[in-house]
Amino acid sequence: MPIYEYKHTEGFSGDCKEVQEYFHSIQAKSYTECPKCKHPLQKVISMPAKHAESIKDKMSDKNLSRLGFSKYVKSEDGKYEKASGPSEAPSTLDRDAMKQNLDNMGVE
Ligand SMILES: [Zn+2]
Repeated sequence: MPIYEYKHTEGFSGDCKEVQEYFHSIQAKSYTECPKCKHPLQKVISMPAKHAESIKDKMSDKNLSRLGFSKYVKSEDGKYEKASGPSEAPSTLDRDAMKQNLDNMGVE
């Protein structure tokens, strides 16, 4: 049976952990309230660890470069530095400059 994560909704102040894990079958009805404190619960969509790992590989700098994507990492407010990607991609991005470009193209 799969494990489902449930999160207490906002305003929770009980003694139990904010996120609870429960085993139940796919067909079973989801919990709508915490069996312990009766606070409303929200199902958390989580992905199996193996799948998360494969996404991590796919999103690695090396693989992104191989596929022709550029990756930018925030360096300061509104400024981004290229972490990986083709050499023709700009080495930095500037939020204000990008916004200006979009304005010029008439994109809202
Ligand atoms: Zn609870």
